[in-house]
Amino acid sequence: MQIILANPRGFCAGVRMAIDVVDQILAILPDQPLYVYHEIVHNRHIVDRFVDRGVVFVDSLDEVPSGSIVVFSAHGISPTIRDQAKARNLRAIDATCPLVTKVHSRAIRYANQGYQILLIGHKDHQEIVGTFGHAPNQTQVVESAADIPNLAIDDPDKLVYLTQTTLSVDDANTIIAALKSTFPNIKEPPTEDICYATTNRQAAVRLISAQCDLVIVVGSKNSSNSVRLTEISKNIGTPGYLLDDVSGLDPAWYPKGTERILLTAGASAPEDLVADICKHFVEHHSATLHIADVYEESIEFGLPLSLKKLMESQGVDHKDRRVRVEPPTITADAYGAIAVPLTIAGKPESL
Ligand code: SF4
Repeated sequence: MQIILANPRGFCAGVRMAIDVVDQILAILPDQPLYVYHEIVHNRHIVDRFVDRGVVFVDSLDEVPSGSIVVFSAHGISPTIRDQAKARNLRAIDATCPLVTKVHSRAIRYANQGYQILLIGHKDHQEIVGTFGHAPNQTQVVESAADIPNLAIDDPDKLVYLTQTTLSVDDANTIIAALKSTFPNIKEPPTEDICYATTNRQAAVRLISAQCDLVIVVGSKNSSNSVRLTEISKNIGTPGYLLDDVSGLDPAWYPKGTERILLTAGASAPEDLVADICKHFVEHHSATLHIADVYEESIEFGLPLSLKKLMESQGVDHKDRRVRVEPPTITADAYGAIAVPLTIAGKPESL
């Protein structure tokens, strides 16, 4: 059996930042109750590990006692929630990913310029709820091309589309093409809203999955970008399976025991869960580990302003703190074996 580890996989800078925010607050104020509005990131293990450390996750700010600290998750919130937090005298620390905030800013700007916004995404996803809330009177959510005939359009020449950051690039392009065909003058955002992490993880699966017997994606069922990775492999004709951790493996997926498996992880899945799966395959199927480098990522974020202010109020220096995700180091101890680089046909020139 061969396990091909896709690079990049797993944590993006936005998820790393959101987790760091909660970690920092727990370190600075260990005795103070800490509330997080919605799951900090969509991963069961991350949430459970924080719950074990005393963090309370809420779906309504009414559950947060007045005066408490509340963290807003990486997916972003609508201004209404920000106002509610103020009204309840909560100290809000905003862990919204800067790439989601960028979409919020665009929604506000286009709404102020009188555009109607067609927001491509999943209407119940927290990110879409948050973005919608920045221009609710001028935004309509488009989940698929089938929604287009039902849109209420005032002026087809004053339309813009925006997208959820974690969509399938292929699905989004299908919807965008349908929008352009119906509304030829629809405005495009200046740059892609689907984020670098989503695009790169999908590109790696698109490139490698055709050369594998199956794809295993580590991630939770409510993680949009993780689910999209399984869909991409299935669209290519390679079975794709999503699992939270090693306990979700099903031997029926690899009946011969000699399969070539692409192993990747959604942007909110911790690497130790990937390592556990590698170790299982090495120990039980004599698997060899291989690394397929497709893209290098060098995105770096600063800490959120609200966290910096909290750190300052507690005398904690934040001057040189940046958030960056380094590629994981494969060790025989954690993964069961070391991994050897694999040459991937069709790899982009840029790497
Ligand atoms: S998936 Fe993209 S938008 Fe979402 S947190 Fe990560 S970097 Fe930010």
